[in-house]
Amino acid sequence: MTRGVLVGRAPAPGEVGDAYDAVVIGSGIGGLTTAVCLAREGRKVAVFEQHYTAGGYTHAYRRRGWEWDVGIHYVGQLAPREPVRALSDYLTDGALRWAPLGHPYDEYRLAGEVYRAPVGLAAYQAALTARFPAERSGVEALFKLVARCRAT
Ligand SMILES: Cc1cc2nc3c(=O)[nH]c(=O)nc-3n(C[C@H](O)[C@H](O)[C@H](O)COP(=O)(O)OP(=O)(O)OC[C@H]3O[C@@H](n4cnc5c(N)ncnc54)[C@H](O)[C@@H]3O)c2cc1C
Repeated sequence: MTRGVLVGRAPAPGEVGDAYDAVVIGSGIGGLTTAVCLAREGRKVAVFEQHYTAGGYTHAYRRRGWEWDVGIHYVGQLAPREPVRALSDYLTDGALRWAPLGHPYDEYRLAGEVYRAPVGLAAYQAALTARFPAERSGVEALFKLVARCRAT
């Protein structure tokens, strides 16, 4: 069960209790996911973070009116019934809402060339094969490997 959140400062002596079922070091997405799962099972959990804010690579910061993400800027497998969506819904009771990225969802610029990443694995594979026809078998092998990783 969640008792309170203390962010951005060290706790005063005695402010944080000393009886926990679990202590999680680090408030990145991994630590927070673990902490929420344990708390939802009724465990008393403390999360300790060394940075001035929680979130690890999910946090963002502002400079001169611009907001910068330090890590995660998009997440996949969020269609209904996909694994990340199921986990997100479980962790937040469905309160966390996701917005589609648009199409293409990313653009890579290398040595003057522009590569656009379409949404969906099949579309991505087709785009890579069209762009690099000589690499067809390598692209195929890559996507087979990705499919195996997704299945495990
Ligand atoms: C530039 C970049 C872009 C990325 N883009 C994406 C993306 O678009 N989509 C995607 O899915 N993934 C992306 N990733 C990967 C993703 O951000 C990470 O895999 C994920 O956030 C890691 O989460 P984590 O909880 O394992 O670790 P972290 O987010 O690193 O969290 C670890 C936390 O533990 C804290 N900590 C460490 N040691 C201690 C200690 N001794 N005491 C207290 N606190 C401690 C750290 O301060 C940190 O807050 C990106 C990563 C980077 C670097």
